[in-house]
Amino acid sequence: MVMAYLFIFLIGMALGSFLNVCISRIPQKKSVVFPASYCPACHNSILKRDNIPIFSFLFLRGKCRNCRTKIPIHHLIVEILTPLLFIALFWVLGSNFDLIFFKYVIFISFGLVLFFIDLNDRLLPDKLTLPLIAIGLIFALLPDSDVSSVSAIIASFSGFALFLLLAYIFHLLTRKDAMGGGDIKLIAAIGMFVGIFGLFFAIIMSSVLALLTLLLIKHDLKKEFPFGPFLIAASFIYILFGQVLIRSYLDFFN
Ligand SMILES: [Zn+2]
Repeated sequence: MVMAYLFIFLIGMALGSFLNVCISRIPQKKSVVFPASYCPACHNSILKRDNIPIFSFLFLRGKCRNCRTKIPIHHLIVEILTPLLFIALFWVLGSNFDLIFFKYVIFISFGLVLFFIDLNDRLLPDKLTLPLIAIGLIFALLPDSDVSSVSAIIASFSGFALFLLLAYIFHLLTRKDAMGGGDIKLIAAIGMFVGIFGLFFAIIMSSVLALLTLLLIKHDLKKEFPFGPFLIAASFIYILFGQVLIRSYLDFFN
């Protein structure tokens, strides 16, 4: 069993490296596979020994060996977070390499990329959200899924419709596009993966998290505020702790 966890950690670290490439390159519409790793500042290709997840970042103190330009901090965060989330997922799901594990490994991978692209570039690219909806649908239609296909499809459509309506009302009231089209497609993808119950949880939890953050950082409301990261964080919380949280919530009121 220890070997399984170690294996997941190593795979997670390696995948985290790739997710970082996606986070840096997808908003610039660059290929994520070619060319291999290079420094975006000096365009020098990165040596194999400087491309070891987590360790290289720490060893180089977050700077390019050649030009000393700072490497964005998301590189380190994603390389640590990806294996940790995979391990937590594996543990929560009862330590099985089954369909549900792979379903959420895919969701978490897309989610991490979307989280940081929205945070850095205020963008939730269609080339990520639309395939995620399609992948969610495929998993929902499989017989052994954790969420029934009916629940997934209803959640996806109602999430989409609700956010579209909210965006419309916001636009009428403020004459500004407060909610991007990306958020609307993202909530459709989340609904497809987590079903009706998960969708409710994600919407409520993300609103609470966003409100707390707005208060904490004293955000200027005239400036753009990305909502995608909160939706993604909330759905991660649901996937990892949803069952436990809902049970303790019900116990508390009974
Ligand atoms: Zn460089």
